[in-house]
Amino acid sequence: QAFPIRAGSVTLADKEGEGAASHTSRSVALEFIKTVCHVLSLDTSVEDEVQRMRRALLAQVGHREFSSISTFESPGQSFVLPDLICNHCNSCRDVDLMRDPAVTSDYPDDNWHCNNCGIRHDLDKVELKLVEHVQRRSTRYQLQDLRCTKCHKVAKRSMSQRCSSCSGNLECDDSPEEFNNDMRIMARVAQFHEFHWLQEIVENAAM
Ligand SMILES: [Zn+2]
Ligand SMILES: [Zn+2]
Repeated sequence: QAFPIRAGSVTLADKEGEGAASHTSRSVALEFIKTVCHVLSLDTSVEDEVQRMRRALLAQVGHREFSSISTFESPGQSFVLPDLICNHCNSCRDVDLMRDPAVTSDYPDDNWHCNNCGIRHDLDKVELKLVEHVQRRSTRYQLQDLRCTKCHKVAKRSMSQRCSSCSGNLECDDSPEEFNNDMRIMARVAQFHEFHWLQEIVENAAM
């Protein structure tokens, strides 16, 4: 196993869900090249050199510069739970449930301690917050407006298939792909942190 499985790891199964446009490779050399070149490309003063190096390195492992598999993608997902409040000392902070080492340690006993006083957070409360988040997200998706792709007006008639002013196609403001992606992230959070209730809610909300 060359790639560590962390809370936010993008798995092959996630990628398969996205259909044919899979950018995932399991080649350590290729992923290393992509990551190093991406980091170096943050420095604009060496842009040309980095681009040349990237092209040469990709050629060495048999990939072309502009193919989709050569595109860098963040290997870690992220979900920030805002305003996690400690019951004991009332300190408040935002926690990334997929990246923050304070909640994603391999040793479950080390996780979820308040970084101010060290008392463990009430996980039932955390799970309730997440369940409420999923329910709000689902409601927002279900109650969203349909919008005309041509004139961008919101559809007024609820069951119509076409725009009443210009008969253009109607489209959801909040796309099903975006919604499903959010649900996949929440399913991953539920699985990693063993929130079974949350898992059930996500399964029911996902399409
Ligand atoms: Zn505390
Ligand atoms: Zn229209």
